[in-house]
Amino acid sequence: MDKRLNYAPCGFIAITHDGMMIEVNQTFLEWMGYERVDLLHQHIELLMSKPNKMIFHSYFYPTINLNDRVEELFISLKHCNGTAVPFLLNGRKYLVEETECIDCILVPMKKRIDYELELRSAKKQLEAAYLEKDQALAKLEQLHLEIGKKQDELLNINATLVELSVTDKLTGLKNRRFFQEQLEEQLAIFHESAKPFSLLILDIDHFKKVNDTFGHQVGDEVLAQLAQILNAQARQGDVVARFGGEEFVIILPETDVTTSWTIAEQLRQAVEQAQWQTGSITISIGIATVTEEDTDLTILKKADKALYVSKENGRNRVSTFEYQTPKQF
Ligand code: GH3
Ligand code: MG
Ligand code: MG
Repeated sequence: MDKRLNYAPCGFIAITHDGMMIEVNQTFLEWMGYERVDLLHQHIELLMSKPNKMIFHSYFYPTINLNDRVEELFISLKHCNGTAVPFLLNGRKYLVEETECIDCILVPMKKRIDYELELRSAKKQLEAAYLEKDQALAKLEQLHLEIGKKQDELLNINATLVELSVTDKLTGLKNRRFFQEQLEEQLAIFHESAKPFSLLILDIDHFKKVNDTFGHQVGDEVLAQLAQILNAQARQGDVVARFGGEEFVIILPETDVTTSWTIAEQLRQAVEQAQWQTGSITISIGIATVTEEDTDLTILKKADKALYVSKENGRNRVSTFEYQTPKQF
């Protein structure tokens, strides 16, 4: 064999038509750990595992018979220590003195396969990383949803707290704090629009007697029932609040003295005519309609003065501050 072919940087095996190895170069022997005598005049399938033999039969022989050549056949050959060494095989058929021979060039594939394996493992890692990313994103989305839900809950709780902070527990009406805010708002509106509002102060007549006769619990129930009547009578926009004890206040927006008197009188009658577990319950009412010089304090004082007039004049009646003396319409 030509020396350069013997030591070429590729394996070289020549086989007969029926697969007997008739030439093997030194490079191949060194790569695979064989001596030349081990392989010469042996069948090339000696170097193959069963699956590789099948590849050889089903691809190599038919292709070489058909085309006189085989290109880039990927095949593993057995090292003398039993391990499989991957090769890329190119084969070509030719005639030597009427005898058919096949020259096979073998290029080792290990590096490329290692590279492919590395690539495959990197791809797997990438896929795992993508999966992790997707899972993290899904978790993030879930956390967002939970935060949104918690925020809604918090808003609801805040709204409930705000509602509680302006609500009177016993009667369910708005409390004095809310009333105070609304009164200031109404004064501001009045100073801008000049549309007057009226303020009613209501006080239960002889309520102490109710407590003394029927007990504090029944007194509480009377307060709650009165609150219901006031709420039922109130118009949209009227502000009904418990001022304290058995005193209530109502802001009547955009309501002049005459209309507020009519409304107050209806309230008084509704209370008088209601069914009470204690027998008759009546209320006295004082009205003040806002004027230019009024502050929250002065209008409250005026309504309170009118209430005092109602009490002084026998209770169960309505008085307006404007007329100083009780006005019966
Ligand atoms: P007047 O006709 O002059 O208004 O007489 P009154 O007895 O209603 O007035 P007074 O101010 O002497 O008594 C008010 C009573 O209201 C005294 C207090 O015990 C009672 N009271 C105040 N707050 C409550 C409450 O929340 N529940 C009950 N049951 N009673 C209350
Ligand atoms: Mg009172
Ligand atoms: Mg009273």
